[in-house]
Amino acid sequence: MGQFNTNEIVIIDDVEPPLIRSGESSDSPHPHHQNSRLSDAQYPLDGRIEEFRKLHFPDATDAMWNDWHWQLFHRITTYHDLCRYLVPTAEEEQALRQASTLFHFSVTPYYLSLIDPNDTQGSLRKCVIPSILEADHQSGESDDPLSEEHTTKVRGLVHRYPDRVLFLTTSFCSTYCRYCTRSRMVGGHTENLLKHWDEALSYIEEHAEVRDVVVSGGDPLTLSDEMLGYLLSRLGAIGHVEMVRIGTKVPMVMPQRITEQLLAVLKKCKPLYMSIHATHPDEMTREAAKACDALADAGIVLGSQTVLLKGVNDSVETLKNLFHKLLRHRVRPYYLYQCDPISGSAHFRTTVDKGKQLMQGLRGFTSGYAIPQYVIDTPGGGGKVPILPAYEVGQDEQHLYLRNYEGKVFSYPTERE
Ligand code: SF4
Repeated sequence: MGQFNTNEIVIIDDVEPPLIRSGESSDSPHPHHQNSRLSDAQYPLDGRIEEFRKLHFPDATDAMWNDWHWQLFHRITTYHDLCRYLVPTAEEEQALRQASTLFHFSVTPYYLSLIDPNDTQGSLRKCVIPSILEADHQSGESDDPLSEEHTTKVRGLVHRYPDRVLFLTTSFCSTYCRYCTRSRMVGGHTENLLKHWDEALSYIEEHAEVRDVVVSGGDPLTLSDEMLGYLLSRLGAIGHVEMVRIGTKVPMVMPQRITEQLLAVLKKCKPLYMSIHATHPDEMTREAAKACDALADAGIVLGSQTVLLKGVNDSVETLKNLFHKLLRHRVRPYYLYQCDPISGSAHFRTTVDKGKQLMQGLRGFTSGYAIPQYVIDTPGGGGKVPILPAYEVGQDEQHLYLRNYEGKVFSYPTERE
């Protein structure tokens, strides 16, 4: 471990000013982007991104904009920062002025460029700009709704299910989601990162039943290539670990992070799965699509995780559009989560009936591959439970009665035990 020093970890306050790397010209984004299958796709936000860049970063070259360090260095993190780009609503202003008591605020310039400054009810805006509604804590809500603290075996390692663990590798994200389940612990930087990793890795080494490690955070793709490579190689050296999954929102909020260097690190870890946190079809821009294509080309198995959010993605049309766009770039919709009852999240939560209606509006009306599993991660640490609309409508001695997507009832002959 001596080969690493803390300067190799991304430290938000210490990110160097942007540099143009040798070999990158001002008009040539990452080389892997050139082979993307993008010819017939539509990217309606291209114009908005360009306009934003011209207006707010006229001196930033393509090489700067496409450098993830530049994106981190220019994150928007305060009320005064934000006012340079849009006029906050009264609810947003109140929240941002109380920044010390609410969950961290940070958004990359790239992600902010996707937000229409004139639409105060915009979906992506609600996801990342704080609202004073977050200060409204209701009964049944909790800072740790999944009781992860109770199943934390060593710092940053949650062992809830028999054969898999959740490894919380960093507390840092480039952009903070207002509905984050781990808002109690996410934000800023983890002290003694390598020591805490060592403890978690030792735990995994000592537990032969652990065959699947979910590397999450915070966002692990905000770690440097060296740190991530170190972590993945340590996990790869543990004989009983059969697979590693990375949970990340980076391809959607900072796709510039998916560089050739990162892909080289990820390719060494096999088999590697990645769960991409995707919320709304507007996130699937040309850049995000290129990032997903590059990850898939590198042999990483891609799935998506989506939190169902009121006023953001709670319509069949929006979800279908999102899932179709993901599939187009080889990301298989995996989970649709009922929003966890995290403190201050009431304004984001739909009813479970609404979730079932949405699933009913998908099943049969689009490819099965475009339909994720709708789940509730049960409060108290009971794990994920699938929620299905009522397709089984009756049973007698001989038959099970099933309702199809058109509302027609069919019978299936049941066997005697
Ligand atoms: S990216 Fe994940 S960990 Fe980070 S704020 Fe969003 S939900 Fe939370």
